[in-house]
Amino acid sequence: ATDSITSEQIAVGKRAHELDREHVFHSWQAQGPFDPMTILKAEGSWVWDGEGNKLLDLSSQLVNTNIGHQHPKVVAAIQEQAGKLCTIAPQHVNDARSEAARLIAELTPGDLNHVFFTNGGADAVEHAIRMARLHTGKHKVLAAYRSYHGGTQLAINATGDPRRFSNDRGDSGVVHFMPPYPYRSYFAATTEAEETERALRHLEDLITLEGAANIGALILESIPGTAGIYVPPAGYMEGVRTLTRKYGIIFIADEVMAGFGRSGKWFAINHWDITPDLITFAKGVNSGYVPLGGVAISDAIFETFRERPYPGGLTYSGHPLACAAAVATINAMKDESMVENAARLGEQIIGPVLAELKAKHPSVGDVRGTGCFWAVELVTNRETREPMAPYGGSSPAMAAVTAALKKAGMLPFVNFNRIHVVPPLNISDADLRTGLAMLDEALDVADSFVTD
Ligand code: PMP
Repeated sequence: ATDSITSEQIAVGKRAHELDREHVFHSWQAQGPFDPMTILKAEGSWVWDGEGNKLLDLSSQLVNTNIGHQHPKVVAAIQEQAGKLCTIAPQHVNDARSEAARLIAELTPGDLNHVFFTNGGADAVEHAIRMARLHTGKHKVLAAYRSYHGGTQLAINATGDPRRFSNDRGDSGVVHFMPPYPYRSYFAATTEAEETERALRHLEDLITLEGAANIGALILESIPGTAGIYVPPAGYMEGVRTLTRKYGIIFIADEVMAGFGRSGKWFAINHWDITPDLITFAKGVNSGYVPLGGVAISDAIFETFRERPYPGGLTYSGHPLACAAAVATINAMKDESMVENAARLGEQIIGPVLAELKAKHPSVGDVRGTGCFWAVELVTNRETREPMAPYGGSSPAMAAVTAALKKAGMLPFVNFNRIHVVPPLNISDADLRTGLAMLDEALDVADSFVTD
């Protein structure tokens, strides 16, 4: 690996940036003012920007590259599959797809023994909800506020942040509930036990008031990610499982971001002794090297579609290149003990260092997480907990913090008033400590926005 970027590479990047601004329409952006960062190359935990600066990728590209960039075993597997067979329609058997499904069924808990493949996370969510509705014959869907489930029509309506507002016509069938959030308790709880008890009482009231006879599914991120990485308090997830069983509601655990080792376990749901009915996954399944997502399906829901056709499909469902990448990714994660490493990094480095940063920097209101899945929540005042940017919005302070992170040498994941610390699961201890030192430096800028 060479650290140096040539002037030719920089020229190619400049031309790409010009063409991008002329012809590429970007996600979530006002197209005019948007000035995207060019990435010339990437390797492991590092990327090189358009000027040739080497940046530490603590974003994992939207919490996606769990094995880092350009893992040689996965690149080789994609190349090998491309040499054999690039694509095959979903109705045919393909060995890469069969093996990917077997590995996923083996890793998911309980009787989730069947896999429907999609192209990413949003369509996994769409199909999981469709399966739940057809299985139960019930239409309404419960979803949490402060959640993210994807950018397609139903997935964005299930999403519990303001990005859904312009898509939500009010007829999606989704009803939102308040999740536990001990740092900003909606339930005026002062202990985690109180938070769990009150959040579950709220959820049961909501089920009763909406009518259990109408509710087909409850979708919940096992650990909410985009919305702020808050690990549910003890007892909450077990309580949700109990309520969904009691009222005949399909429990969809959305593991698109939290799954495949991110939280220090293969699936975040493994932090509790429960099995959901459906798990949605994407991202980490093959670190996004080729687009892939899917739904892991219980035996009971599978039975619904044993004789009755499932009314849904995708041309690229179980795409051979994507599945070959998944097989190689999962095997590399096992061979290189990446999930165990993620747990160790969280316990021994990220958690303790973030606790020190919280003690040192008055702008840090809360730090929380597990494995390689952490958030630093910034406030302008620790007493009032005034967020440094509103939920769903931005602020000059957060723009300055983001610029400081980049200046310090990091490609950060910043969302609203939070900095997410979400490195690849196989980042070296030294690189991780370097990244946390960059964060320390940028937090001085955040501190300058603190008011009494
Ligand atoms: N669910 C969750 C929990 C996610 O984090 C995401 C993506 N951030 C999605 C669904 C949507 O996935 P995709 O962008 O691949 O459609």
